[in-house]
Amino acid sequence: MAKTARLLIRNIGHLVTMDAERTVLRDAWLLAEDGVIRSVGTGPLPRVSGAERVDARGGIATPGFINTHHHMFQNLARAFGPISNLPLLPWLAGHVPLWRHFTPDDLWIATQVACAELMLTGCTMTSDHHYLFPRDGSVAMLDAGFEAAAEMGIRYVGCRGSVNEPSDIMPEWSTQDLDVILADCQRLHDRFHQTGRGAMAQIAFAPCTVFGCSGEHYRESARLARNLKVRLHTHCGETVPENRDSMERLGSRPFTYMARHGWEGDDVWLAHGIHFSDREVAHLGRTRTGVAHCPCSNMRLGSGVCRVNDLRKAGSPVSLGVDGSASNDSGHMLNEVRQALLLTRVVHGAGAMTPMEALELATLGGARNLGRAADLGSLEPGKCADLAIFPIEDLFSSAAENPVDGLVLCHARTVDTLVVHGRVRVAEGRLIDIDLPQLLLQHGRAARRIHKGYSR
Ligand SMILES: [Zn+2]
Repeated sequence: MAKTARLLIRNIGHLVTMDAERTVLRDAWLLAEDGVIRSVGTGPLPRVSGAERVDARGGIATPGFINTHHHMFQNLARAFGPISNLPLLPWLAGHVPLWRHFTPDDLWIATQVACAELMLTGCTMTSDHHYLFPRDGSVAMLDAGFEAAAEMGIRYVGCRGSVNEPSDIMPEWSTQDLDVILADCQRLHDRFHQTGRGAMAQIAFAPCTVFGCSGEHYRESARLARNLKVRLHTHCGETVPENRDSMERLGSRPFTYMARHGWEGDDVWLAHGIHFSDREVAHLGRTRTGVAHCPCSNMRLGSGVCRVNDLRKAGSPVSLGVDGSASNDSGHMLNEVRQALLLTRVVHGAGAMTPMEALELATLGGARNLGRAADLGSLEPGKCADLAIFPIEDLFSSAAENPVDGLVLCHARTVDTLVVHGRVRVAEGRLIDIDLPQLLLQHGRAARRIHKGYSR
């Protein structure tokens, strides 16, 4: 019989459980066995033999954050001058030419860098919406994303993005035929998708937007996804021009159009979801369709403010996403939590969101939208041992009266320790087994090559 792998974390100053009562334990410990939380508590440590022991040094432990919207390849175009000051559609049209000769090797590097950023800022599970498949390029593009994430040791949902109709924004070379897209969805599912509690790698099907994806594309993707029991992800309601153009071209607003093709329900989560009418909010809530809120990107592109509280009140689960690093321009997950709180308060006042509610979006909300409410999102016995431990304070949070509030309200910090499925992946603030300086050298080289080929 295989030996049980035990992990005992002690000296946790504040343990944010995210249980139903939102209990925060003081001076706590956590015991995991084979990747699953066996018990949490305060007072004397449980007697266990052969456990790996971690000293949390009085830090703040939270459930691992769950990032529900990203385009990892875009970290090769951070702060890219020619598009730095444009709104969504010109911004998108402006950066597409960068990727004409994008390869799986580029995606591998970008994925590792994106995962490093996320892990060092508290994230234990991430999705990556990859919609870039040069028509004449490798067929095995997203395979590189799965492999790179597995090496980092983060939970990963590869969202197989796609575009099947050329437009002013997405040229012919960046589109694929629908049968090619669906065949690749099936292939990736068969190769990488895990099921059940504790799954480390999963697939979702993710047509890019109503611009570039036909009705048949949405309908057939939903049909295949439901046959295979995988989730559905796409962009929706990000900007006012998107709604207007959709009315003109398709005769309905994007969400109505998508819903008509089966894109509603608790297996669907939509990125951004900013410009919804009251009726659409009610529809989303009634059908339990989820929304990934991306505050930094929405501010950066000047897109608008997601109706987080209205959506939640209506019954639509809301999670957080850092979005692609060409519109953020980094992937700092704790910072995203902070910005979610600040942005909601800008519109609705200081009482509109508490630090605990902002943390909920990144933990319980993320688990819900990625279909993992049963095994992720809180630190309770039976859930997976996915957690972040942040230092109790640093210069920018020194002497915070309420350290858990301070985690969100003060300048966003990085983790001391990160644990994914009971495995320590960050210790003393450093990624284990990852040569970060070497990775950044490769990243710089790949970015320079891509920038050099840019022409419009
Ligand atoms: Zn996006």
